[in-house]
Amino acid sequence: MDKNEILSVFNGVATDPLGYARAWKDANRRPVIGSFPMNFPGELAHAAGALPVILQEAQDAITFGHGVLFPFYCGYTRSVVDQAAKNDLDFLDAIMFGDHCVQLLGAADAVRQLLPNTRVIFFQLISSMCDPWTLGRSRESFETLKAELEDFVGRPVEDAALHASVRLFNRNRQLIRRLYEMRVSGAVALTATQMQAVVKSSMIMDKAEHTALLESLLEQVERNPEPSPQGIRLHLSGHFCQAPKREILDMIEGCGAIVVGDDLYHGFRYISTDVRPDGDPIDALAEWYLARNTGVPCPTRVQNNVDWDGYLLNAIEREKAQGMIVLMAKFCEPHMYYYPEVKEAFERRGVPHLLIETEHEAMAIESLKTRVETFLEIVKRREAA
Ligand code: SF4
Repeated sequence: MDKNEILSVFNGVATDPLGYARAWKDANRRPVIGSFPMNFPGELAHAAGALPVILQEAQDAITFGHGVLFPFYCGYTRSVVDQAAKNDLDFLDAIMFGDHCVQLLGAADAVRQLLPNTRVIFFQLISSMCDPWTLGRSRESFETLKAELEDFVGRPVEDAALHASVRLFNRNRQLIRRLYEMRVSGAVALTATQMQAVVKSSMIMDKAEHTALLESLLEQVERNPEPSPQGIRLHLSGHFCQAPKREILDMIEGCGAIVVGDDLYHGFRYISTDVRPDGDPIDALAEWYLARNTGVPCPTRVQNNVDWDGYLLNAIEREKAQGMIVLMAKFCEPHMYYYPEVKEAFERRGVPHLLIETEHEAMAIESLKTRVETFLEIVKRREAA
């Protein structure tokens, strides 16, 4: 397959994740485990012989789900509950719920009620990241999760299988990180939408299949470097559980920007950190959980020796970005609580940034476009000055 065909496969899976997962289940006759973002290690489900799929926000309007969850919940939680209410998630063999915010907890209860026949694996990770007991408590959580998965599949998950899954997932992350490096240096011309499709499809596809396609894609782009795209270099920040709408990404780049880096969950946050591929795999997962938050801090975790605003300022410097657009999902409390610190840090440093609040429902793209155009003009003038 050539580069465009590979990107088209990634795009197809990103557009219809449940369609891919259903087809995989029919073809492989093995279980599919849906999970909430952002801390579930897919390696465990993979080693148990299942397809781990991160549940995605759907694009369709919320209808049946309206009666189940409050309208002031974020678009992601309302959409997942709506998919459950419409029976779209019935084919899943199990769902793994995490609890990284209050709204996810509410959504987990609603889905549990809507899907009484689906095995629910509830998984709780400590959110305080720098206490003396954090590593031990994380280890206990992953141990419990592994035991639940073993009970679900009816056999033990051997260390050798887990090590093999970790190596495969690491390889996948490393390849995507390589694409990120090439994007920063201008050696690959991938739009923000294409990059999102690369990462989002990795959250859904069979990891070996996705990795083989990625290897071919990288081999092609490294053999034929593309002309460096031109435009105002931007970092995209925010959006944890759901992928930003493509029309927003396309609009931003259509205004004359190029996205050179991000810390989106459907972006660099998802692939930032590898799991140690040797030794006790549960220890390695616990270390990975802690290392992820040091690598790309998350406002759903509490860690007083790292800060997200400092990380963002460093990322912008490293990526030679000229400004940042923050995409904040409406009603996302962890993001709303933390954003003032980011704003203050950026203003103090004099780095231009623009906040865009996003919604699951239709958004007025034309008025957003005016704001982005104005922002880019400000960035240009500041540079000129
Ligand atoms: S972290 Fe934000 S986007 Fe994710 S479920 Fe919670 S409120 Fe929604």
